[in-house]
Amino acid sequence: MSGRLNGTVALVTGASSGIGEATALSLAAEGASVAVVARRKDRLDDVVARIRDTGGTAHAFGADITEAGEAEAVVARVVEELGRLDTVVNNAGVMLLGPALDTPVAEWQRMVDLNLSALLRVTHAALPHLVSAAADGRRGVADLVNISSVAGRVATAGAAVYNLTKSGVTAVSEALRQELAGKHVRVSAVEPGAVLTELTHHIRDGVRDNIEAWYGGMESLRPEDIADAIEYIVTRPRRVAVNELLIRPTEQV
Ligand code: NDP
Repeated sequence: MSGRLNGTVALVTGASSGIGEATALSLAAEGASVAVVARRKDRLDDVVARIRDTGGTAHAFGADITEAGEAEAVVARVVEELGRLDTVVNNAGVMLLGPALDTPVAEWQRMVDLNLSALLRVTHAALPHLVSAAADGRRGVADLVNISSVAGRVATAGAAVYNLTKSGVTAVSEALRQELAGKHVRVSAVEPGAVLTELTHHIRDGVRDNIEAWYGGMESLRPEDIADAIEYIVTRPRRVAVNELLIRPTEQV
């Protein structure tokens, strides 16, 4: 496999479905050796098999990154087994929408634990390796791509804690970008609008139908559309950093 990411190692969280899966396929097609991370190991094995069938390189790392020590452990395993780390796509997330009055507090906690805490812990563990990769890699640059959301920019009723987590991801991305710019580690926030994935499947009964009707009422994005944007970001020349990318379906208002 020959491409613009030859010789690099990429770690993609939440790569067992949706945007993460499409991103893993896309980065592997550019020559990256891709570590796919999520809980559903069978789905990861399937992604790895599809990448290998097309001549790419990928490895499955089953992990629940919200469990104590798991985020750090999976980053360490990837570096130990694949030798380096050039690209991290912090993509794993949940969107448990619904009015605050009826929401079980466990749903809020789940979003904070995954969308914020796990993302921070993967980032903290990965940063020294990204700095090293930028310093010694052929490309002279490394990438941390955080998947935020339109919901990180615009707060709406029924999305309060999802808004909290995604606006946090966008804010952290900008601060880290400033800190790491001099070390040639680029930090980007990607903010998708409606993308047809399994994300809505986890919303509780009584709320899910309305949300899925909204997604279905327009020509929503496909996971490949966001993977395409991520591929664009991480294949820019060393001098070019795409700091933030907001991508809505054309029909989304
Ligand atoms: P999916 O539900 O298809 O993907 C979510 C991924 O996260 C899955 O691979 C899931 O794998 C993984 N995941 C969930 N919990 C954990 C965990 N505890 N540990 C490790 N991995 C976990 O949805 P999307 O592809 O849509 O979502 C990807 C990202 O995009 C999310 O951050 C989401 O907020 C964001 N986004 C999505 C939008 C959309 O409309 N779809 C719009 C804006 C942003 P597994 O269950 O196997 O662990």
